[in-house]
Amino acid sequence: MFHLTCIHCGQKYGSDEIIYTCRSCGHLLEVQYDLDAVKTSCETWQTRPLSVWRYKELLPVKGNPITLQEGGTPLYHLKRIGAELGMTHLYAKHEGMNPSGSFKDRGMTVGVSMALELGMKSVACASTGNTSASLAVYGAKAGIPAIVLLPAGKVALGKVAQALMHGAKVISIQGNFDRALELVRDLCENQGIYLLNSVNPYRLEGQKTIGFEIIDQLGYVPDRIVLPVGNAGNISAIYKGLHELTALGVIDKMPKMTGVQSKGAQPVVQAIEKNLPEVVPEENPETIATVIRIGAPVNAEKVLTAIRDTQGTAIAVTDEEILAMQRDLAQKEGIGVEPASAASVAGLKKLVQAGIVDKDEHVVCVVTGHLLKDPETIINQCAPPISCEATLPSLLHALDS
Ligand SMILES: *Cc1c(COP(=O)(O)O)cnc(C)c1O
Ligand SMILES: [Zn+2]
Repeated sequence: MFHLTCIHCGQKYGSDEIIYTCRSCGHLLEVQYDLDAVKTSCETWQTRPLSVWRYKELLPVKGNPITLQEGGTPLYHLKRIGAELGMTHLYAKHEGMNPSGSFKDRGMTVGVSMALELGMKSVACASTGNTSASLAVYGAKAGIPAIVLLPAGKVALGKVAQALMHGAKVISIQGNFDRALELVRDLCENQGIYLLNSVNPYRLEGQKTIGFEIIDQLGYVPDRIVLPVGNAGNISAIYKGLHELTALGVIDKMPKMTGVQSKGAQPVVQAIEKNLPEVVPEENPETIATVIRIGAPVNAEKVLTAIRDTQGTAIAVTDEEILAMQRDLAQKEGIGVEPASAASVAGLKKLVQAGIVDKDEHVVCVVTGHLLKDPETIINQCAPPISCEATLPSLLHALDS
């Protein structure tokens, strides 16, 4: 049992309504459950496999979901990177291990399932890449058309490949992500298509399960959870989920929610640093980490609450710091992630070095997407393979060079 509530004016909407923002004030909505009814089921969660659907009583889907077994991703102890920072309790939750290679699948299994329960016949999104890949996958699984709008020339190769292969209608917009999102919102309203950007409150419900899994995997609540922040849906979702666990009495403290952005696209960091009442959009966001190349975060009002309410923080890192950490994760820990994902660990490193985060803290960095999502960025940074004649002497010579 649930309804939707406007986070600004408190207006309530029924679970059968097709609505993304408040009709009275235009602000964001969130899903609210009757937590008393959920209380008893929390104990049964431990008997189910680790996945999004382990926590189904705290999700809005009533019937059988459209699922490809999302979630249940590994939590790795970062021994070498942790040691370099003087930390013994540094972990990475590898969300690149989801079906389409990013955490977006957690949101899409719930969002596409809800689209069907609401009687919608097609789904759409604007995307910096991973949302489109995930929507294409879940549209295919559900057997309904998926439309994705991409900012022209700004989407990593692996993600476009996924969207095309899984059969979405892929449209390249001559404009940036923020413009593509405005357009797709108009399109959905105009054509009765279901919108699955992170303005959609049901998508965030799926994504909050990252926080649940972290606590189940560690067996306790970490001091801090660190994430890359683009539209700020994920950090807000994890906060909301853990808030619900607090209300249910499952956990007794909140981790400090910590957001990392790129120097070239850091509206949330600016709002936190300057203690602004709201996020001021940036006109021309720019970063190599294309998924967080966002100037006007959709979930701006939710993220400030998530960070401030938990005494968390936000920090910006340079593209060079992001790429260096992408290499460190790959070469020192065996964890392959796309650039934005490395931003969480790069930001944490900076916070520890600045003395803002204590070395004794138990910290989980969410690494959000798989290395193969963006092969071009990687190839451009690495030396090419060493060319060699097919003889042993040549091979030995090549190995020496
Ligand atoms: C979408 C995405 C992000 C940003 O998440 P938001 O919810 O938009 O803040 C970060 N990393 C990856 C890999 C993503 O796909
Ligand atoms: Zn409202």
